[in-house]
Amino acid sequence: MKEQDWELETLAVRAGQHRTHECEHSDPIFMTSSYVFGSAAEAEARFKGEIPGNIYSRFTNPTVRMFEQRLAALEGGERCVATASGMSAILSTFMALLQNGEHIVASRAIFGTTTVLLDKYMAKFGVETTFVDLTDSDVWRRAIKSNTRLLFLETPSNPLTEVADVKALADLAHEHDCLLVVDNCFCTPALQRPFEFGADIVIHSATKYIDGQGRCVGGAVVGNKELVGEHVYGFLRTAGPTMSPFNAWVFLKGLETLRIRMQAHCNSALDLAIWLQEQPAVARVHYPGLPQHPQHRLAASQQKGFGGVLSFEIKGGQAAAWQVVDNTRLLSITANLGDTKSTITHPATTTHGRLTPEQKAEAGIGDGLLRIAVGLEDIGDIKADLARGLDRLR
Ligand SMILES: *Cc1c(COP(=O)(O)O)cnc(C)c1O
Repeated sequence: MKEQDWELETLAVRAGQHRTHECEHSDPIFMTSSYVFGSAAEAEARFKGEIPGNIYSRFTNPTVRMFEQRLAALEGGERCVATASGMSAILSTFMALLQNGEHIVASRAIFGTTTVLLDKYMAKFGVETTFVDLTDSDVWRRAIKSNTRLLFLETPSNPLTEVADVKALADLAHEHDCLLVVDNCFCTPALQRPFEFGADIVIHSATKYIDGQGRCVGGAVVGNKELVGEHVYGFLRTAGPTMSPFNAWVFLKGLETLRIRMQAHCNSALDLAIWLQEQPAVARVHYPGLPQHPQHRLAASQQKGFGGVLSFEIKGGQAAAWQVVDNTRLLSITANLGDTKSTITHPATTTHGRLTPEQKAEAGIGDGLLRIAVGLEDIGDIKADLARGLDRLR
């Protein structure tokens, strides 16, 4: 059986492994910055690119390559390049594929630091961004201009879990000679494979679910040989935000358990969403797995599970929401996500704290909104931890 015929679970464990003459069973870590050549002539040939092989770990490293090949196989993309962080994956994509004078249309509901990268830094180099509502294809269409090169989104969004129609936006992008770039951090290929719906580039913060255990910072860009294998890779080997071999090894181990971890995150998140809906202090729950979620059917058609992140609105605004946060003893009060440990965040005063009141209203970030990234603890313990604060609000 060829590797390309394997199912996702098998690829996650086996894809990309190249055993050395030591016959190691697990994947080895190659902690080396450079490589030796057999002769002066071989050195010349490798530098000229006439024969394949390693030169320097800013360009290639065997452990990093294993991670790249495994993630590419899981996403169903031709090539993957690993990066030092999720942000450097996004930066490398923009720097490699955009020119001064070009334009991006991006979802308004993207990771806050990505917004800063676009607004503050890409703008400085003449790349302008229009931010639009994730779920309204018409506003995406109207925002496209003659110099638009790239559409950028995350789905489901953070923290309101809105779901984009990836196929519709990929078609729209291609109609206008643009690329669709999807940050697939929240779903991972275990739940959603954007290439199946026509996306051109998939981006990851491996820091989140790919590691899944809160240890390393890393990222990746997946796509075809030309866009990623030549352009993004070319930027990366020149500018240098490459992944460390140690981190690549941690992420390889993370990928091996990705599918079962994601399934467990999804199961617990759905259970918690249903329970939260029944709590008198909770006004509304946002989770794509709930039948009343506006894009529930779209999510069901696009995703294999509804994800590990949910948010909910507490009656009584910020004071009430803070009371729930401050009465937890188990949940971690932190903005991170994609860990075995559940986390709770008050977006209006943290991740979205620098937005003006008007921007918050537009983004739907109310003062009573809380976000939970559901970890792998016992779901009864998680509910009990939240019940302490919720019951006091009665
Ligand atoms: C965390 C995150 C990033 C940034 O990744 P880092 O690894 O922290 O640089 C990008 N996109 C999304 C959706 C994220 O959650």
